Amino acid sequence: MSADGTIVARKLCKSFGHHRVLKDIDLTVAAGEISCIIGPSGSGKSTLLRCINGLETIDRGVLRVNGEDFGHVEHENAYHAVTPQRLAHQRTRIGMVFQQFNLFPNMTAEANVMSGPVLVKKVARKAAREQAAELLARVGLAGCGHKFPAQLSGGQQQRVAIARALAMDPSIMLFDEPTSALDPERVGEVLAVMRDLADLGMTMLVVTHEMGFAREVAKDILFMDDGVAVERGDAREVLANPAEPRTREFLERVL
Ligand code: ADP
Ligand code: MG
Repeated sequence: MSADGTIVARKLCKSFGHHRVLKDIDLTVAAGEISCIIGPSGSGKSTLLRCINGLETIDRGVLRVNGEDFGHVEHENAYHAVTPQRLAHQRTRIGMVFQQFNLFPNMTAEANVMSGPVLVKKVARKAAREQAAELLARVGLAGCGHKFPAQLSGGQQQRVAIARALAMDPSIMLFDEPTSALDPERVGEVLAVMRDLADLGMTMLVVTHEMGFAREVAKDILFMDDGVAVERGDAREVLANPAEPRTREFLERVL
């Protein structure tokens, strides 16, 4: 069976200096599944996504993305990291969407969406431009390709960012609080695009405070606190009836 679109972490650890940010994290996302990560600020959610996207190396444990090792420990002090070349290739298969959109401000929406295919995959400009137009239409931004990020609303910019990630034809999409920087009336349009992606069978790992989205769209939810995976399970079950007191406290604060 193909391991495309899968994420497996076992006892994943990550420290910055003496600060242990991820402590023995276990996580499994099957192909086509949507998982949400919730938890207070500073609990390690972004760091976990950055490890999965190869933006950070892990210190210990196992991390397998699309069936390929990103690093594992065979025995004490024998950490095996993936080669930089392998990692660079792997990273093209993983789309990431950030809270602050991170669009190139000096490029049009179309040029933003074309940039990955043209620069990384060496796709011909004409083909990349056609694909960009299709993707912008898919996120509800047909006709906006000529606009610069500053001429777009936050919700529109975030949809361009999603189109840009999709242009690389990823098998996994990671979202780090994609709606947290948006005006409330713009949140729905971004969540709608994410719902469409979920319906198409994209594997998605979403850090979010949108509990409604998590309840409706996610299969599993992971609650993190202080670098620990405190509770993990069926999203509706955990949200309705958390087993751990820390999860319950957090949910009472945010719901
Ligand atoms: P969250 O996304 O849940 O808010 P983060 O993963 O951003 O949490 O951060 C977890 C902890 O790791 C925080 O205490 C943060 O200050 C620390 N941290 C994150 N990135 C770095 C870094 N590059 N260097 C040092 N500390 C970091
Ligand atoms: Mg974060």
